[in-house]
Amino acid sequence: MGKFIFITGGVVSSLGKGIAAASIGKLLESRGLKTTIMKCDPYLNVDPGTMNPYQHGEVYVTNDGAETDLDLGHYERFTNAQISQDNNITTGKIYYSVIMKERKGDYLGKTVQIIPHITDEIKNCIKKVSKEKDVDITIVEIGGTVGDIESLPFLEAIRQMKWELGPTYALNIHVTLLPYIKSAGEQKTKPTQHSVGRLREIGITPDIILCRTEKHISKEEKDKIALFCNVDREAVIEAADVKHIYEVPLAFKKEGLDDLILKKLNIKSEDRDLKEWEDVVVKRLRNAVKEVRIAVVGKYITLPDAYKSIYEALVHGGIANNVKVTINKVDSSELEHADPAKFLADSDGILVPGGFGSRGIAGKIKAVRYARENGIPFLGICLGMQIATIEFAKNVCGLKDANSTEFDQETKNPVINLLDEQRDIQTMGATMRLGAFPCTVAKDTLTHQAYKKDLITERHRHRYEFNNEYKGLFEKQGVIFSGIYSPKDLVEIFELKNHPWFVACQFHPEFQSKPERAHPLFRNFIKAAASPAKKDLSSASELQRH
Ligand code: GLN
Repeated sequence: MGKFIFITGGVVSSLGKGIAAASIGKLLESRGLKTTIMKCDPYLNVDPGTMNPYQHGEVYVTNDGAETDLDLGHYERFTNAQISQDNNITTGKIYYSVIMKERKGDYLGKTVQIIPHITDEIKNCIKKVSKEKDVDITIVEIGGTVGDIESLPFLEAIRQMKWELGPTYALNIHVTLLPYIKSAGEQKTKPTQHSVGRLREIGITPDIILCRTEKHISKEEKDKIALFCNVDREAVIEAADVKHIYEVPLAFKKEGLDDLILKKLNIKSEDRDLKEWEDVVVKRLRNAVKEVRIAVVGKYITLPDAYKSIYEALVHGGIANNVKVTINKVDSSELEHADPAKFLADSDGILVPGGFGSRGIAGKIKAVRYARENGIPFLGICLGMQIATIEFAKNVCGLKDANSTEFDQETKNPVINLLDEQRDIQTMGATMRLGAFPCTVAKDTLTHQAYKKDLITERHRHRYEFNNEYKGLFEKQGVIFSGIYSPKDLVEIFELKNHPWFVACQFHPEFQSKPERAHPLFRNFIKAAASPAKKDLSSASELQRH
């Protein structure tokens, strides 16, 4: 088993613990260490798959089909860590497993209790990930804020682990906030002292304090925090706001965080730099001049976290094309009764993301039509692909009542239909078509141009599918089915012939995009959006299809 870094948070939520964990993973990888990152969520849902995006933000899907916390997306974007369903545990998952064992009689007549049974289960889950992934370091982020009742069993478990393993095998990093009080012109350290006090009450003394702050911290303030929080002076690390999240690993390196972690864990390693990350990602982000405006038309746009991976993948597409992507978030409900041009006229590209339920559907259909008729590059993802299907059936094929049976079970033209395997499913949790499936890509298509591969693998999270009965009609009207899941003949991707760049996919490409390796569809979508010839519908075929 390798070593462990436990990350806790104090004072307030939304401090960016996930980005801190991902950045530490990145730094350690740059030192030649193999790492993995886990998230412990203190809620009772077994996984976030059943939660509304307003409650939880995006549900991130792993290759092995787990519906997980969006922080796992940061872990995969920043590092090469293999992330799977074991990388996300929740209170619900832990209790579920303990109760199942109790019912089976595994506890041999004992009273089953939070300590030791729940805490042991947590420790075993953490150790299992470290062993199975055979890593040097497992970074474990504990969700929530110190002081919450919910996270106590997780904190007790990591306290015990550090006691059992010893200080050079486990490290506690506490992420905290130094609020700046404008009227006093001062940064306040008291909330940090209180938060560390709460941690110490339960037996955890942080080894390193990461101070989230708007302003730089003076040496005096660092000394004060060190003295009152009982940590080494060098272990008070400034984590000041940066312009872009991908700058965080560089900022941490500047503070010497990687050297400090390795020293405390007694690990000797070569010092590699983060030059590639700096050159390929950060410099391009800082220096891009040309602006490309992308409208994202969805129903959860007021919540920045709901389409997290999509927004990031768009940024990656910008990095790959050396352009600055500006995202215009359009509420699909508002489009329902408005002229789409009012919201979309200045867009270089239009994206309709995934979703569930009928609110805002009519607005999304209008957005797809606007992109199709005006030759604006379009990317439809999951529900976005299904909406593009409905729009094409209605407005090109003349099937006025075409719909998905998700929104109208009685429709005469169910162009999107429930998968056969989904018909008898009664329960909601983890029952969709989830995770990675292969897809065969047709030659001489926009899709093939992007991937340059005949076989790809993409992640899914849906119940409904394109209804193959309509394939012939769609093809006659200019649709190319460019990606198919061959074992079941399911449509995975379609595109339009007479359009500069119109691609709709049933899967979620955003989950596999990385800052230094933009997903091929996002890369080419942004490329098309940045192209001055994008609105020329007549030359579409020559332009994009050589
Ligand atoms: N609601 C649609 C389905 O279940 C689309 C899901 C999604 O966009 N993730 O098939």
